[in-house]
Amino acid sequence: MHLLNADLHSHSTVSDGTLEPEALARRAQACGVELWALTDHDEVGGQHRAAAAARAAGMDYLTGCEISVTFADVTVHIVGLGFDPDDAALQAGLQATRAGRSARAREMADSLARVGIRGAYEGALKYVGNPDLISRTHFGRFLVETGVCGDTHEVFRRYLTEGKPGYVPHRWARLGDAVRWITGAGGIAVVAHPARYPFTPTVEYALFTEFIAHGGRGVEVVTGAHGVAEQHKYADMALEFGLLASRGSDFHDPDESRTELGSLPDLPGRLQPVWGALQDRIRRAT
Ligand code: AMP
Ligand code: MN
Ligand code: MN
Ligand code: MN
Repeated sequence: MHLLNADLHSHSTVSDGTLEPEALARRAQACGVELWALTDHDEVGGQHRAAAAARAAGMDYLTGCEISVTFADVTVHIVGLGFDPDDAALQAGLQATRAGRSARAREMADSLARVGIRGAYEGALKYVGNPDLISRTHFGRFLVETGVCGDTHEVFRRYLTEGKPGYVPHRWARLGDAVRWITGAGGIAVVAHPARYPFTPTVEYALFTEFIAHGGRGVEVVTGAHGVAEQHKYADMALEFGLLASRGSDFHDPDESRTELGSLPDLPGRLQPVWGALQDRIRRAT
């Protein structure tokens, strides 16, 4: 049986990816993606371009975003799919979420300067497509360009994460607010790459329980960040909690990303794909 090649997690220059939405759409199509979502961080400014580019490339499209949330003092990402990108409450919520990024970036640069790395703010800015959205990824590119680190994975091992130079704690949106912005705009909220969070089983259970209580309905089971063991674990969690399952590469850049667009394993057959519940939200190419 042919399972749909859905890739519902990717980033463009509108956040911290390096390809424009149009180039990303062409690459996704060339990689065999049949249903695509652009999910830029805290921003829906690329959605109309992405939908038009998907149509031009002959792909079905779902609107998307990835909202930064603070839960139990940890940054958690919530993917929204199939919402109205022009919804005023969603746009206001995302704007508020983006607001602290510039000040945080200056503090990150100050922290790096204290270990002898100068000019990081200006250096990171060179990689930024959307000034509202300066992120750790842009600092990572600067640290690679200047030879401080060999690649972005080394960057996040040695810098920019808790306890390391360049890390600045930040308070993002509240879980319930992010879920409500997405669902209020007619979409479905999905817990992104759950294996990446350093939660104890108890706190992870609390995350899923509260997420569902706020109206969240999905979880990423197959993502670039999950190995086979994690796919099994979160497939079981999806069944236990009655959640829809999503699949997405989290593609950012042809060289940096370990997972190509559309190249992930299929969702386990026992799961309900999130796109099954979004049929009336899919923008059909034909
Ligand atoms: P920010 O939203 O500014 O905190 O930046 C977070 C972004 O940094 C994520 O969306 C990823 O693109 C990137 N990132 C975070 N941790 C890692 C990691 N361990 N390896 C590679 N990229 C990472
Ligand atoms: Mn990112
Ligand atoms: Mn993420
Ligand atoms: Mn992502």
